[in-house]
Amino acid sequence: MGQSNLEERLIAIRRHFHQYPELSGEEFETTKTIRSLLEQAGIPILETSLQTGLVAQISGKKQDPIIALRADIVALPIQEETDLPYASKIPGKMHACGHDFHTAALIGAAYLLKEEEEELNGSVRFIFQPSEEIGGGAEKVIAAGHLEKVKAIFGLHNKPDLPVGTVGIKRGPLMASVDRFIIEVEGVGTHAAVPHAGIDSIVVASHIVIALQTIVSRQLSSFDNAVISVAHISAGNTWNVIPRTVFLEGTVRAFSAETREKIPKFIQQIITGVANAHGAQATLRWMPGPPPVLNEEKATELSVQTAEQLGLNVVEPTPSMAGEDFAVYQKKISGSFVFIGTSGTHEWHHPAFTLDERALPIAARYLAEVAKKALKHFK
Ligand SMILES: [Zn+2]
Ligand SMILES: [Zn+2]
Repeated sequence: MGQSNLEERLIAIRRHFHQYPELSGEEFETTKTIRSLLEQAGIPILETSLQTGLVAQISGKKQDPIIALRADIVALPIQEETDLPYASKIPGKMHACGHDFHTAALIGAAYLLKEEEEELNGSVRFIFQPSEEIGGGAEKVIAAGHLEKVKAIFGLHNKPDLPVGTVGIKRGPLMASVDRFIIEVEGVGTHAAVPHAGIDSIVVASHIVIALQTIVSRQLSSFDNAVISVAHISAGNTWNVIPRTVFLEGTVRAFSAETREKIPKFIQQIITGVANAHGAQATLRWMPGPPPVLNEEKATELSVQTAEQLGLNVVEPTPSMAGEDFAVYQKKISGSFVFIGTSGTHEWHHPAFTLDERALPIAARYLAEVAKKALKHFK
């Protein structure tokens, strides 16, 4: 397939997905479209127990080894604020993380590999993964057995702040772990004019919010990166009653397993201590999400070689505090996740997020080539 032909085709595919975004776990139409595009190209779809999402595979001279390429297919509950002719047609839903780009790029990689299937030294598995934005999608793919016998996995994310033609590749940690917490502070409700008759849960919660910020600045080494954010506070419903409880919710991001493990212990210590100091109670619920994206040495080396072979500009990107459930696969097998420059106008999850579609054939070729290299290396 010629360069311009591939580009045109992938742009049309990406724009279709862009107009019909679907949320996590509801990617039914997206899945149907991927299926029909692959079937039309004669690419075999594997049987699956997945409700949404799909897995296809091209085998060459032999079945093994198997190398996986993964794209996420889900959109976000965001109202699009662009005036693109192909803007989202679904109110309140948008591909604001560019997963439409990833999906089209992976379809492109399948088209390219289909053209040379006879020469492949094994199988390439194409994982179109659901539910990335709320987490749990990668676990579903693994539970459905699609990672069995796979030797290595490769994936990518569009990167608005890198220009088209640039690939951000980094060994080791690239994106942070994503954990969620809920803290409930319980005091004793009272008249707002008679605080001494109760225990003011709002004052206690306020001390907790501030004290949590000392974990990063005073408990962790300055060389450990972490973020602790309380993003949601809710308490009370009027001006003259001190409520009994305060609800706090937020997220913790980290790059090392060690730091990640320490933080909930520090949170527990602070909330118990601060609450006790005021005669209140505080409880912590910890909801772990994906681990950090950790790029394995050899797989990353293959990514660099591929990008250089394609004449792309390889840069070492600044790690992102955002998370990615690609990390869940990397806990099981060797993998490399890269950033493909898309000269975007806005950051991920912004209602005016856009990307330069000229990066589409680049992403497709990168995936196809890295899979071929990996088939030779991971025997
Ligand atoms: Zn996202
Ligand atoms: Zn994303």
